[in-house]
Amino acid sequence: MAVLEEPIKGVPLVKNYIDGEWVESKGEIRDVVNPATYQTIGKVPISTKDEIDTAVEAAKAAFPDWRRTTPVARARYLFRLKELMEEHFEEISRIQTQEHGKTIDESRGETRRGIENVEVACGIPTLMMGYNLEDIAAGIDEYLIRVPLGVFGIIGPFNFPWMIPLWSAPYAVATGNCIVVKPSSEVPFSQMKVAELVEEAGFPPGVWNVVNGGRTVVNGMLDHPDIKGIAFVGSTPTAKDVIYKRCGETGKRVIAQGGAANFMVIMPDCDVRATVASMMTSFFGNTGQRCLSGQTLIIVGEDDGFYKSFMGAVIEMTSRIVIGYGLDESVQMGPLRDKEKKEKVLRYIESGIEEGAKLILDGRKNVKIVGDYPDTCFLGATILENVTPDMKIVREEIFGPTMGVIRVKTLDEAIEICNENPFHNGDAIFTSSGKSAREFQYGVISGNVGINVGIVAPMAFFPFSGMPDSFFGILHTQGQEAVRFFTESKVVIQRWF
Ligand code: NAD
Repeated sequence: MAVLEEPIKGVPLVKNYIDGEWVESKGEIRDVVNPATYQTIGKVPISTKDEIDTAVEAAKAAFPDWRRTTPVARARYLFRLKELMEEHFEEISRIQTQEHGKTIDESRGETRRGIENVEVACGIPTLMMGYNLEDIAAGIDEYLIRVPLGVFGIIGPFNFPWMIPLWSAPYAVATGNCIVVKPSSEVPFSQMKVAELVEEAGFPPGVWNVVNGGRTVVNGMLDHPDIKGIAFVGSTPTAKDVIYKRCGETGKRVIAQGGAANFMVIMPDCDVRATVASMMTSFFGNTGQRCLSGQTLIIVGEDDGFYKSFMGAVIEMTSRIVIGYGLDESVQMGPLRDKEKKEKVLRYIESGIEEGAKLILDGRKNVKIVGDYPDTCFLGATILENVTPDMKIVREEIFGPTMGVIRVKTLDEAIEICNENPFHNGDAIFTSSGKSAREFQYGVISGNVGINVGIVAPMAFFPFSGMPDSFFGILHTQGQEAVRFFTESKVVIQRWF
């Protein structure tokens, strides 16, 4: 099938969007590489400390007026932004595929999920409401209102370049704050598109800024006294040891969502056809680069016949996954984001084999790529069985298209394996038994639980939850919890004369 037209043309230099202006950075310039074609598609700056300071100053200066803009008026900007996002839906999706490598359908799904957060934030006049009580004492009433705090920093990972900053940004500005967004420097174009649409929607200068870069920008945010809080999504080492720790030291609010290594539990009474299909998206969707990806399959029961036929169907379907450039609509799995990420996954496959796992589908060999592309970042889906819970391929996040298979006798054992490894974000069970589903939901500590659903990605009006070692903070991104995070409660007591 033909490759769709690429929206990023030439090799454009990404600029920062500060105070309503497109500004060229003075920082070091790096290449942005399309992982499928392995061609340089753009240049991204690693912005300087001065540049993040300028953006924070602009956001601080914009705050008093933006805070006084009524919630209904702020919502109107978001309605306009949503309209523009719909108008540019296909272009936005193709940008993600071009810079990240995911398939166009995965990108379209991501675009939709991002827009849904803008839609939910459009309801801010209702979402932001407080509450009151008449007569807390005779003739005295008390009420609570939610007020914005000032400037927030929003930091994104590479794997969902469009959607993840939108888990926070629309709520932050809807509640009356001003923001500085730092996208992953590996995939800067999606948030540049957001900034273009923010500009077109007419947001006042300084309300929504984007500064590209790496650690210098993040550290600049963490150290800046005018940044009131940080909404971060990325790996656990950064979430825990950098963001959560430093925000604690400097007294900033924090959401720090980290990585994960998730479990999919298969009961022998599951609907095999539907479950196998769900396994494909769970383990291999987004080339396994999701914090909600399945990493370990736990098959419950001693029925060898069930095990063989289930795994037979999984292998058969997995072997048929079409690999290639995601802008070809026939492609079902794109490349890993870069060469280093592929090498990391290869090391995990090796470690699994060294620790005694048996390779039953080797994605390293004979990767058939549709089209004429270098195999630099491509890796086929890989399945290992005879896996045990203590192996590195279970305990650590692989972030690639691999499946490790464990067999256990009972559901209790499966739940124990999940909970012994607290580093998981979304676990799921596949069963037709309400009792097993209830036991699983009750027993697992994971923050996102799937029942016959492999990717437990909460809708925008629910929080994106997590659990120990994959989440740090109290409140989460998305929906009502994001509104709480970006506001402070102000309590007023009034005596009527
Ligand atoms: P990462 O932690 O390497 O980078 C995330 C962001 O932090 C980037 O913007 C990066 O520039 C910055 N950063 C990285 N190291 C830093 C440091 N030492 N100091 C300051 N800033 C630093 O994560 P990634 O590789 O971009 O993203 C993939 C990770 O994100 C995976 O672990 C995945 O599971 C996780 N993730 C989690 C969720 C969730 O909701 N829990 C969602 C998506 C992705």
